[in-house]
Amino acid sequence: MAKRKSKREYVWLECKQCGQRNYRTSVSVAEGTPKLELKKFCKNERMHVVHKIRRK
Ligand SMILES: [Zn+2]
Repeated sequence: MAKRKSKREYVWLECKQCGQRNYRTSVSVAEGTPKLELKKFCKNERMHVVHKIRRK
């Protein structure tokens, strides 16, 4: 059994253009969920577009 010490939550990185969830990552939720926006590669558009964090 693995113990998790840090408050981390798995989130999706959702493409702003097509709404597809391309990446899964974890963020710290110790002080509330940060509204992060990252430029990631989307295979739909075949270019880098802004992805926003999407909680489950
Ligand atoms: Zn896209």
